[in-house]
Amino acid sequence: MKISVAIDGPAGAGKSTIAKLVAKNFNLMYINTGAMYRAVALVAKENNIDDTNIQELSNLIDSLNMKFINDDLYLNDENIQDKITMPEISSIVSKYASIKEVRSKLVDLQREMSKKYDVIMDGRDIGTVVLKDSKFKFFLTATPEARAERRYKELKNRGLSVDYSTILEDIIKRDYIDSNREVDPLRKAEDAIEIDTTNLSIDEVVEKISLSIKNNK
Ligand code: C5P
Repeated sequence: MKISVAIDGPAGAGKSTIAKLVAKNFNLMYINTGAMYRAVALVAKENNIDDTNIQELSNLIDSLNMKFINDDLYLNDENIQDKITMPEISSIVSKYASIKEVRSKLVDLQREMSKKYDVIMDGRDIGTVVLKDSKFKFFLTATPEARAERRYKELKNRGLSVDYSTILEDIIKRDYIDSNREVDPLRKAEDAIEIDTTNLSIDEVVEKISLSIKNNK
């Protein structure tokens, strides 16, 4: 029986940092589904395919070879992790992620991965759609300000010149689009455990999630 762990929540709630650490504790493969939506946005942007061109987008996704190696997303054998986390991709990704056809193709890929491997996946619709039957579901939240602060520090540490208020604005806008789209919006699954990470350290959140998995395995 395969183990699958679902982690959902808004941008900057700590999902990926925490999922990577929980993955190590239980020897799970970490699947960053946001990275997959970001990859689609990146390649669409490079090829000037806008979000109304559904046929081209579908063909594009069919032509992509995405795989995760050591937590990073590789596209056709190139590590694209740095490119897809740039602010210019963050500001357009939610538009592409609102498209039904894009979601259904990526959800299929994500489910295939969960059939092959023991996984921990983070995203917006993992507990409600992708891994609906998972026994382990967590929903991470934090105030928009705390989330923007984390993103700001992360980008700054990478040497990028970034502005806190622009990041906060982008996070609030993305939360709105992600929570109000018609297809599979950001929602807490009824059976997910909610954790407000605003005033918790990374280790405290990892500990809570790990304990809960251990006690229910
Ligand atoms: O997790 P991250 O912030 O990198 O996700 C980028 C964007 O991808 C989100 O703002 C959302 O629009 C989209 N996304 C999604 N469903 C997922 C994961 C991400 O719609 N499962």
